[in-house]
Amino acid sequence: MSSNHLFAAIRAAIPALDAPLVTHPDGGMETYADALAASGRLANLLVARGVKPGDRVAVQVDKSWTALVVYLAAVRAGAVYLPLNTAYTLAEVEYFLSDAEPTLFLCRPEIEPEARALATRLGVPCVETLGADGTGSLTRAAADLPEAFEDVPRGADDLAGILYTSGTTGRAKGAMLSHDNLLSNALTLRDYWRFTRDDVLIHALPIFHTHGLFVATNVILLAGARMIFCPKFDARECLSLMPQASSLMGVPTFYTRLLDQPGLTREATAHVRLFVSGSAPLLAETHRAFRERTGQAILERYGMTETGMNTSNPYDGDRRAGTVGFPLPGIDLRITHAETGAVLGTDEIGMIEVKGPNVFKGYWRMPEKTASEFHDGFFITGDLGKVDGTGYVQIVGRGKDLVITGGFNVYPKEVETEIDALPGVVESAVIGLPHKDFGEGVTAVVVMAKGATLTEADIHARLEERLAKFKLPKHVIFVDELPRNTMGKVQKNVLRDTYKDLYAG
Ligand code: AMP
Repeated sequence: MSSNHLFAAIRAAIPALDAPLVTHPDGGMETYADALAASGRLANLLVARGVKPGDRVAVQVDKSWTALVVYLAAVRAGAVYLPLNTAYTLAEVEYFLSDAEPTLFLCRPEIEPEARALATRLGVPCVETLGADGTGSLTRAAADLPEAFEDVPRGADDLAGILYTSGTTGRAKGAMLSHDNLLSNALTLRDYWRFTRDDVLIHALPIFHTHGLFVATNVILLAGARMIFCPKFDARECLSLMPQASSLMGVPTFYTRLLDQPGLTREATAHVRLFVSGSAPLLAETHRAFRERTGQAILERYGMTETGMNTSNPYDGDRRAGTVGFPLPGIDLRITHAETGAVLGTDEIGMIEVKGPNVFKGYWRMPEKTASEFHDGFFITGDLGKVDGTGYVQIVGRGKDLVITGGFNVYPKEVETEIDALPGVVESAVIGLPHKDFGEGVTAVVVMAKGATLTEADIHARLEERLAKFKLPKHVIFVDELPRNTMGKVQKNVLRDTYKDLYAG
């Protein structure tokens, strides 16, 4: 092992040092040479701060050019990059830091005092700050360091990242992704979706999640292409950038919001060759409406934190609404009986299992949990689906009770635990209900104790202090009792059915 598996491939794909890698909606620009120089300085800083190969670098900062460079620097330094959703509260971050034991925690300047106190308590040796504008202790400390950095050798199976993903029960799990998990998946997607150096991607996704970080960013880097880096998604801005762009990767919410823009027309989107959707189900209705307005068929793909991307609709050929297309080259996908594990045939609904170079190395420090999620070498995704006679994969539901709102995962158990702790609450059930804008709207169904006088505002007030905003219920419904089956399990399907029109219209 003499090279850095992932970064050597990124280097090899650089089209020219003065080629732009990132441009900004306001006109700013950074080249591939800038990326090498800035990541070299930061990699030197990481090493100076004691980051050794395999050490975790935890990062909770706003999306920016420098934040992107921190990812590259971590890879070059042989570290394990650990991005955290910027919406997580300090109480949530505490768990991730205590579980992952990073050598360095990079946070927003606004929370520096609390972050330092937390780091001291948990024994995290080093804290640095980085603001949305690129300033902070990190860039100050790196300013005088050399650009030159010899990439730390890393093999295909060495870890490049850990992304936390919540479980239905218990605590969040750190999905360990190797250099080759990331590289193999990005190369496959680059070729399948035909990305070349001529491409310009509108990048409006967050970079703490697999979609914006590993799918969008790594595909662009490995194609030697360019991205227009938007701090967040804004439908009007996105539309205005389309004449300069060749592609967009988004969650379904991007597309429903674009459809609300009167300016979304065939002409306005004519320059874009590829619209990709994923991270949550794209309604067939959205697919059809988008095609009617623009003449373009959104390409839907399916993946998850633990596996990267597993399936994609075809580049040429029929991009079928309501399906996630075919298994990607090199990836095996099968459907098994959820209870017996028997492999099922065409059109039979069961558990989706996948196997391939994209599948993660396991959950951080949870060997038993990891073992229980594999079945004869296949990873059990937790998604229920089927494969039709023409090979298209369809996801029919989630075995786990995950709610996906605006592309973010909300695990009901976590929200229920917080609600149930509130005086006057007997129990609660958190469900996702169809929502035109968010895909699913988080909804809490709550049983109050006799004589209690709780309101929706009381529940919100507690949750706001404890949970990221995207996890907060859009509605709280008070009921006398929750529906249960004979085994005593709460029937969430009954609740979902009863309130299915809550957000309609
Ligand atoms: P995450 O780990 O945050 O990427 O979430 C992964 C989960 O999102 C998957 O297990 C699926 O339940 C869901 N998901 C991702 N893409 C799709 C899609 N195209 N259609 C339906 N569900 C999807």
